[in-house]
Amino acid sequence: EAKRNGRNRYEDFRIEMDAAARKRRLVELDLRDAITCNQLRLYYQPITDAKHDAVIGYEALMRWHHPQNGLIMPIDFIPIAEETGLIHSLGSFALHEACREATTWAGNQTVAVNLSPIQFKNSGLVSVVESALASSGLSPERLEVEITESVLLDNTLGNVGTLRKLKALGVRIALDDFGTGYSSLSYLRSFPFDKIKIDRSFINDMQDSPEALAIIRAITGMSRSLAIQTTAEGVETDEQFRRLKEEGCSLFQGYFFGRPQPSESRLLGFAPV
Ligand code: C2E
Ligand code: MG
Ligand code: MG
Ligand code: MG
Repeated sequence: EAKRNGRNRYEDFRIEMDAAARKRRLVELDLRDAITCNQLRLYYQPITDAKHDAVIGYEALMRWHHPQNGLIMPIDFIPIAEETGLIHSLGSFALHEACREATTWAGNQTVAVNLSPIQFKNSGLVSVVESALASSGLSPERLEVEITESVLLDNTLGNVGTLRKLKALGVRIALDDFGTGYSSLSYLRSFPFDKIKIDRSFINDMQDSPEALAIIRAITGMSRSLAIQTTAEGVETDEQFRRLKEEGCSLFQGYFFGRPQPSESRLLGFAPV
């Protein structure tokens, strides 16, 4: 049984690995072009307040419009960008583009940009943020950066110092995907976050899982004591929205309110994609 078409399990494994490595290499080569050939786009997803009567901001989410392969989602290129170092260029593009875009909005909504932990290895990160603000003229309070707790795991790099410098510029700092990974209450002591985003997995499970609901309750209770705003991610139904309001969440994001969409269609009022 070990032999299939004369190959053993190890050979099967190696052939799969080679295919994966080839695919990675292709993506890496194409991704270099993506930056220079203008194939990267930011889509914007609305974030609303508890009354659902005001969009207080948008999260910028990257998409890759590949000339042959069509729309590529972050999960299929961000990890490769991180491994190859291309994330520094992608990240700089996102910061500049999001700040520029936000200055065209009629209201004073905030724009949230995701930062990869790898971007913190670049000592120039603070200058990139400064330059995005300066060249767009966006008021720093309208820019929010989203980080995950992995940024705080490595103390040796002085990441907390970098966060402090960003905060000193007036930029808001949000802790993304809270509750997953190694999320620990002690992270909330290492830095004064402006916002905690409760990971979508808890919102997804809250109706069937008392544990998920208990965790949401613990996060909102703790955030209230620390005077930190909470955003519920991945809100898909009116019922979830209602329950999360009862639990004291302050801000809401998810398909129920709107999908990420390109700024052009947002302005033209097209249906969400
Ligand atoms: P994230 O920062 O946690 O972003 C939220 C993700 O949840 C987005 O996925 C969004 O489309 C999705 N989402 C929002 N509402 C709902 C909902 O109601 N239901 C469901 N099922 N999903 C919802 P997306 O756009 O695929 O991005 C995935 C991740 O890729 C992001 O997670 C973020 O970690 C990363 N990412 C996206 N853009 C960038 C970027 O410009 N730079 C960096 N470093 N990472 C990015
Ligand atoms: Mg995010
Ligand atoms: Mg998130
Ligand atoms: Mg997430």
